[in-house]
Amino acid sequence: MQKEIEITLLPEQAADEVTISTHLSNALKVSNERIKGYKILKRSIDARSRRVVFRMQIRVFIDEPQLADNYTVNYQNVSNAKQVLIVGAGPAGLFAALQCIENGYKPIVLERGKDVKQRRRDLAAINKHGVVNTESNYCYGEGGAGTYSDGKLYTRSNKRGDINKVLQTFVHHGASDDILVDARPHIGTNKLPQIISSIRDFILNAGGEVRFDQKVTDLLIEFGKIKGVVVNGEEKLMADAVILATGHSARDIYELLHNKHILVEAKPFALGVRIEHPQAIIDAAQYHCDIRSEFLPPAYYSLVEQVGSKGVFSFCMCPGGIIAPCATHVNEIVVNGWSPSKRNNPFANSGTVVQVGLDDVKGEDPLRMMRFQAEIERQAFDLGGGNLVAPAQRMVDFVESKVSVDLPVNSYLPGTKSVMLSEILPDFVSNSLRKALPMFGKKMRGYYTNEAILVGVESRSSSPVRIPRDKETFQHPQVSGLFPCAEGAGYAGGIVSAAIDGVNCANAIAQFC
Ligand SMILES: Cc1cc2nc3c(=O)[nH]c(=O)nc-3n(C[C@H](O)[C@H](O)[C@H](O)COP(=O)(O)OP(=O)(O)OC[C@H]3O[C@@H](n4cnc5c(N)ncnc54)[C@H](O)[C@@H]3O)c2cc1C
Repeated sequence: MQKEIEITLLPEQAADEVTISTHLSNALKVSNERIKGYKILKRSIDARSRRVVFRMQIRVFIDEPQLADNYTVNYQNVSNAKQVLIVGAGPAGLFAALQCIENGYKPIVLERGKDVKQRRRDLAAINKHGVVNTESNYCYGEGGAGTYSDGKLYTRSNKRGDINKVLQTFVHHGASDDILVDARPHIGTNKLPQIISSIRDFILNAGGEVRFDQKVTDLLIEFGKIKGVVVNGEEKLMADAVILATGHSARDIYELLHNKHILVEAKPFALGVRIEHPQAIIDAAQYHCDIRSEFLPPAYYSLVEQVGSKGVFSFCMCPGGIIAPCATHVNEIVVNGWSPSKRNNPFANSGTVVQVGLDDVKGEDPLRMMRFQAEIERQAFDLGGGNLVAPAQRMVDFVESKVSVDLPVNSYLPGTKSVMLSEILPDFVSNSLRKALPMFGKKMRGYYTNEAILVGVESRSSSPVRIPRDKETFQHPQVSGLFPCAEGAGYAGGIVSAAIDGVNCANAIAQFC
């Protein structure tokens, strides 16, 4: 017999299997001996009251053995199957490739950057010397922007596809199965590269291809139908279906489409700063304590305020994290954040951004939001003074329009320089942040403090361009066989939703091509 039950335990109890078992036995009124096993289905931390507890939904196996879960997918060898070109080896491109294999197509993944191992050297050069390789960086290379991220796997896109299948695939390739049960699952930067290379090996073993240093520089189109792509300005590769999963940093792809008179549209995005606090401040606020219990993970937060017509919100919060330099071009600054799996750095950071609407950037150019974003990133670089030194300001100083006399120790490796961030951020962004930050402080004790640093600029939270596609066929309205996909096309935001969109595009190919 199997029974499902929800239990609430103190953090130290939730960490101990014997205590959980005893608790189940008492709650279900069956002896411990009759409980043959249990499986945690969902786990979340409830810190709403002073006593922080874990809530767990558990399936209990009574008088019957607990069988191992079998995750199997019947993949076939596709070496001689019909080819699909997939541009970009981010989560969207890789999951599209897996789904192509499942559907009996041969995926050829073309990635402008390097494989995960070689990519690491370019990241070291960025962090140590402030030098950006424009083809291999935090956004470009195997695994895409997700590889050296926190690997947070939360998404709101549960209507768009099978989240559980994406999570199961990550587990199959090496992620902890905790991600299947935790309310806020994450993998960690140290673990993601092995998982990504395991997915690549799987694609190769099934007869697909993954090619690096292959930048797609042109699309071959005849009579409104895709025929293939040009790689590195030379080689032509032909196929009837092309998935364009190039992420939101590939400005050259947007320019290419626009120059070829293929419809692209300006899209609202969000702009702001990355905010970093000592993790201890966030722990104290969220767990109502002076020192976090060893049984609790570093605390998380999510904050949102409406300031006039503008939404101001935190996103991509990285407990125990690092602020990363994520530029893809020289002479620009873009920041983002990541955490190792243990989230054991002493800082907590999050992107804190303001909505930028189409009316905020005047004009008719469909690429105007992108150009506006690029200009702000260049100004941030100039104000930092070069070598990826980022402009920064203490929180209260920013709100009170004062230059910070000094800056707190922080995690951004290329270095920070004290400036007035309002010199780079548009007035509507600065003013909205100035109003929102003290309001956040009212919601979360200790948040509004000069111990926090604001680092500019957080400008790539979402794509500033949309590449339109038909709702049903997922193809571009003017180019059949071209499948705009995931974050770069404006249909995803984050690893899981990008992966799901990759799967959906691959399924659309099976249905319509
Ligand atoms: C530091 C950091 C931390 C993040 N943390 C998280 C997180 O914790 N959780 C989360 O859900 N999301 C996170 N994100 C966002 C997440 O990584 C993206 O939402 C996701 O990777 C988007 O997937 P994608 O496949 O659409 O595009 P991308 O991951 O951007 O992949 C696009 C790929 O296309 C390649 N490409 C571009 N142009 C070309 C071309 N012309 N030819 C060939 N290849 C090309 C690029 O090199 C890249 O590898 C983070 C991002 C960063 C930068």
